[in-house]
Amino acid sequence: MTRFSSAPSFDFTVVGAGLYGSVFARCAAEAGKSVLLVDRRDHIGGNCYSERVDGIDVHRYGPHIFHTNNPWVWEFVNRFAHFNHYRHRGVVRHGDRLFSFPINLATLHQLWGVSTPAEAEAKLAAVREPAGDDNLESWIVSQVGRELYEIFVRGYTAKQWGRDPRELPSSIIKRIPVRLTWNDWYFDDAYQGIPVDGYTRLFENLLDHDKIRVETGVDFFDERQSLATAGGQLVYSGKIDEFFDYRYGELEYRSLRFETVERPGDFQGAAIVNYGDGAVPYTRIVEHKHFALQKCDRTVLTYEYPQAYERGGEAFYPIRDERNAKLYDRYRKLAASTNVLFGGRLGSYQYYDMHQVIAQAMTAAEKALAPSRSQAA
Ligand code: UDP
Repeated sequence: MTRFSSAPSFDFTVVGAGLYGSVFARCAAEAGKSVLLVDRRDHIGGNCYSERVDGIDVHRYGPHIFHTNNPWVWEFVNRFAHFNHYRHRGVVRHGDRLFSFPINLATLHQLWGVSTPAEAEAKLAAVREPAGDDNLESWIVSQVGRELYEIFVRGYTAKQWGRDPRELPSSIIKRIPVRLTWNDWYFDDAYQGIPVDGYTRLFENLLDHDKIRVETGVDFFDERQSLATAGGQLVYSGKIDEFFDYRYGELEYRSLRFETVERPGDFQGAAIVNYGDGAVPYTRIVEHKHFALQKCDRTVLTYEYPQAYERGGEAFYPIRDERNAKLYDRYRKLAASTNVLFGGRLGSYQYYDMHQVIAQAMTAAEKALAPSRSQAA
């Protein structure tokens, strides 16, 4: 007998307790629908999951900085967490030098001694290269020239993606602004912050509803039959290629390995320092206490090492180059022929940020709930 064969029937069975699944579950529950939410990990929160260590909220699957321009999304998340006023300002280390990042006037002042937007523009105009093919390297050197590319982008990107930047889409680097002002914020968004009580508490609040039953440590693929009888519409936020048993082949992902250490003091004075140098094996060091704007005698650091994704491992980033985009499109068409709802970073094979996933889940839930809403009216 399988675990869910005698389960009561639910209106929705949701696979994955990350942002997509949890937001969808909450929206459905608030519309009066019952939801079974399962996750293969032994905890909720997906990659947003955090844990307290020495009173410091540690982001277990890489740093998560909340930012959005969408008031609908911001209002929604504020129902489940109180956010602090953290604004991310990046620091990049290359060899012995440290720079402000994303590239802004402070960066160009540190590097070239320029002091005004006009001086910076003149210098950039002299070093920009004509845009070639649409790839990450070509696009960024057409914006800022080769010296900046070498310091900030080439080594970091090659480590992060395990590919030459010429083989990657420019969309990856277009996420990051280049500004000829002293504004050094990483994100332009109107609403930004970190949940004061941690991401895990946000998820606990989100899922605290009597219409939602959460089961962690449940692998959908082991329980597929019994989950099908558990009932209702299936909502799936895992890997889309895995859902279809890799019928058309495997989509590529990039994975990460984390090394976390505790120590006294303040290590780097910032939440994240990126390592632009290709010879350093990690991409960044996260010093978690700085997200909380906390004073604390001890500190927790996480070194982030990108690594190849292998089946059965943790897929963090979809590698959406041309080949994978085409392959995904085949899976997307197949998905459209089923009555399953796919979403989230893995279900949509998109390099989404948190706010985008939340908006996607809220929109999908509105659509899925529309018939019952209009019946009720
Ligand atoms: N990037 C870079 N140097 C940096 C930071 C980012 O070249 O110091 C590039 C890199 O290709 C990375 C992309 O910009 O994958 C997006 O960076 P972001 O900080 O948004 O990445 P995430 O936090 O989502 O891993």
